Amino acid sequence: MEIDWKAITDEAVRHLQALIRIDTTNPPGNEKAAADYLAEVLSAEGYDPVVLESAPGRGNVVARYRGSGEAPPILLISHLDVVPAEPEHWEHDPFGGDVVDGMVWGRGALDMKSIVVMQLMTMLLLARGRVPLARDVIFAATADEEMGGRYGAGFLVDHHPDLIRAGHALTEFGGFPVEMGGRRIYLCQVAEKGICWVRMRARGKPGHGSTPHRDNAVVKLAAAVAKLGRTDLPFHRTDAAAEMFEGMARAVGGVQGLVLRLLLNPTLSPLILRLLPEPRLTNYFHALLHNTVSPTVLRAGSKTNVIPSEAVAELDGRILPGHDLDSFLAEVRAVVGDGFEFEPIEVAPPVQTTSRTPLFATMAEVLRRHDPGAAVVPMMMTGGTDAKHLARAGVPCYGFSPMRLPPGMDFMSMIHGHNERIPVDALAFGVQVLYEVVETYCGR
Ligand SMILES: [Zn+2]
Repeated sequence: MEIDWKAITDEAVRHLQALIRIDTTNPPGNEKAAADYLAEVLSAEGYDPVVLESAPGRGNVVARYRGSGEAPPILLISHLDVVPAEPEHWEHDPFGGDVVDGMVWGRGALDMKSIVVMQLMTMLLLARGRVPLARDVIFAATADEEMGGRYGAGFLVDHHPDLIRAGHALTEFGGFPVEMGGRRIYLCQVAEKGICWVRMRARGKPGHGSTPHRDNAVVKLAAAVAKLGRTDLPFHRTDAAAEMFEGMARAVGGVQGLVLRLLLNPTLSPLILRLLPEPRLTNYFHALLHNTVSPTVLRAGSKTNVIPSEAVAELDGRILPGHDLDSFLAEVRAVVGDGFEFEPIEVAPPVQTTSRTPLFATMAEVLRRHDPGAAVVPMMMTGGTDAKHLARAGVPCYGFSPMRLPPGMDFMSMIHGHNERIPVDALAFGVQVLYEVVETYCGR
């Protein structure tokens, strides 16, 4: 079947505008309206989609294109919710879906309604072409990713695992380019750090503020927080970080390549990190090579003249693949010393898969075909996505939402920010690349 990509792009833009105009700000979410919209589009093309409500208004939609079943399915999974927008700071209505100067504007234009549309168009093109495949292709657009995914991917994994069981999943965070050493590098997520949010409590002797003593819980806690702020937890080399730094090193070559490789050297890494030109890069690379801890919430005392008997800090801990709550707390205790109680608030394990698969090779090959000269490199995220829920179901996940963004347009700084928008060309690129990846990888 000859595909008219110009017409497909117009169609993709219309769907993206429609989805942006459905306000799915989470909280509260209200993803059901968007799920219903997609179900209607899919039904009109011969699919049999199901809309599952995990709670009132929290909609998830799943549909399946049938292959021969010779090979395991591939899952195209996205989230329908968006983060709050603060409309007063935008140049165009965040829920207007306007096309201005070749860009579609709106909350979710990048994260991730554009990717919902790329995955939707893949489903529509498969159905229209009656393309023979060896694998089923599953489409799942879910609720609640921005608040942890309990009502979305987590709900599907816990209550409808048969609907989404697959050999691999493709989702957000990957496939967008960064410029490095004159090369355009497409980073594709293969790993993400885990979460260890904990409460750290110091206890002391209560007393009157007029007669200070040495056993003040506030002072003990403050000293521990200060130590955590200026001490790095130990260096750890993980497969995911090694694949990432070595991949970037190969792509840029020369002195820059050497510097990137030296970051993996436990002795030289701290020095190299300090010498990097951009603090943002230093912080990101540091987080890829260490468990990290950010003190974020402090609580103690209720009256100026009363020394409280306890003080509490909440710590946002993030752990590398290979670590867990116990190994993280051991590292924190080594910094703050004895005398503190720790209590988990939320814990999610890290996720790591490998890039050495035929699917990753197909992603790289198709991207390079559409952007000759670009490199494709596996990436680890310091934050988290729905990949952690899929890992529980045994489905390895790649971040792959291909977009060729123009130089100067930085994906990571635009998502969750003001004036989120996507060039129509980048959407068109993504629709075609994703379709070709699925058709090639699943074809027979
Ligand atoms: Zn997202």
